[in-house]
Amino acid sequence: MSSDFQNTYISKEQLYGANNYSPLPVVLEKAKGAYLWDVDGNKYLDLMSAYSAVSHGHSHPELVKTLQEQAAKLAIASRALYSEPFAAFLEKLTSITGYESVLTMNTGAEAVETAIKAARRWGYFSKGIAEDKAEIIVANGNFHGRTTTIVGFSSEPSYKKGFGPFDNGFKQAEYCGHECDCIESCNLSIESFKSQINQNTCAILVEPIQGEGGIIVPRDGWLKQIRKLCDDNNILLILDEIQSGLGRTGKLFAYEHEGIRPDGLIIGKALGGGLLPVSAFLSSKEIMDHFQPGSHGSTFGGNPLAAKVATKALELLYEDHLIENSAELGDFFMQQLNNIQHPLIKQVRGKGLWIGVELHSGDVSAKDICKRLIKKGIISKETHQTVIRFAPPLMITKEQIIWAMEQIRAVFKDIT
Ligand SMILES: *Cc1c(COP(=O)(O)O)cnc(C)c1O
Repeated sequence: MSSDFQNTYISKEQLYGANNYSPLPVVLEKAKGAYLWDVDGNKYLDLMSAYSAVSHGHSHPELVKTLQEQAAKLAIASRALYSEPFAAFLEKLTSITGYESVLTMNTGAEAVETAIKAARRWGYFSKGIAEDKAEIIVANGNFHGRTTTIVGFSSEPSYKKGFGPFDNGFKQAEYCGHECDCIESCNLSIESFKSQINQNTCAILVEPIQGEGGIIVPRDGWLKQIRKLCDDNNILLILDEIQSGLGRTGKLFAYEHEGIRPDGLIIGKALGGGLLPVSAFLSSKEIMDHFQPGSHGSTFGGNPLAAKVATKALELLYEDHLIENSAELGDFFMQQLNNIQHPLIKQVRGKGLWIGVELHSGDVSAKDICKRLIKKGIISKETHQTVIRFAPPLMITKEQIIWAMEQIRAVFKDIT
């Protein structure tokens, strides 16, 4: 826990920085692989990996080398010119995903905005929706980023209070897994989406598993039904896989668990290899061709440095076997967590190395547990009051998880 030395930095951040986060009391100095060190030299195992942005592990040597070489050669151009790293990145990303076309941005929120623009243009120019009438259906409990448009369709008051007025054009439906213990026959969510559809609906935009919402995993078959709803009504299905994508759930993309394919796909976070913000919107040419020069852009989106690092990050997903590791160790970790069987634990859920441990609400909050875990050398992060999130770098080893489990068990044992 924070020393006087660490407290000097904490005070400065609090004095000079905006107060829009409430960090855990650790002042970091360096990181390597799955480990973090604070300024006092204490070592921690990272079980949150910057909200899945550090899937490759901290400062992966090959990514650092790629970054350094490209930074010294050609870092930032602008899209007013072509570059070899950008061309290579587009070729790589389309070939591994099977999507025809890519639009690159930097942060996740920008890629979500891009998807919204693409869906609306498709709605007007392909589907024939009357001007300014297009609607997108989103889910309650969603998290898609922090721009004013995006927080406008959030259901979380703290994200949006005082930031209005908000855009029209978004309708909200029930996500699967929030309000009910969604069993196979439960159609509450599907009916709710269905009831929001009309002739102006251009897209359904959802996360295949809600991350910030509390690692909410819909029941099997739900996403397939959403896909069918889109097909039956000539609506685009757009998935936000910024957090769930690139191996996090044990497959390249979470939608593969359901054997479907979205019309538009949003990725970010781990795409930058834990070194840079890189995001993208992927879709068919039919959808993407509604963008022409002048219709959308970004000064830094697709810059040669980001493109080179992201290309390497994609290659390393396979070379370092990160997707298989996520599947195998995710099952192992989840099983171990399930074995704790503590009265405080309500449910353990997740896919791959993306696990939420939901506590019964009461005296001990998820943040309390996270703070106790810090004292044992583990960094994790709560979402809402009751969910502890475990999302380690995908290169974590079984030995490291076994060690982590000893600490986690010890923390729960202390609470009776
Ligand atoms: C993190 C996240 C975003 C926003 O990404 P930023 O890079 O913070 O803008 C959007 N959607 C999901 C599902 C996320 O997890």
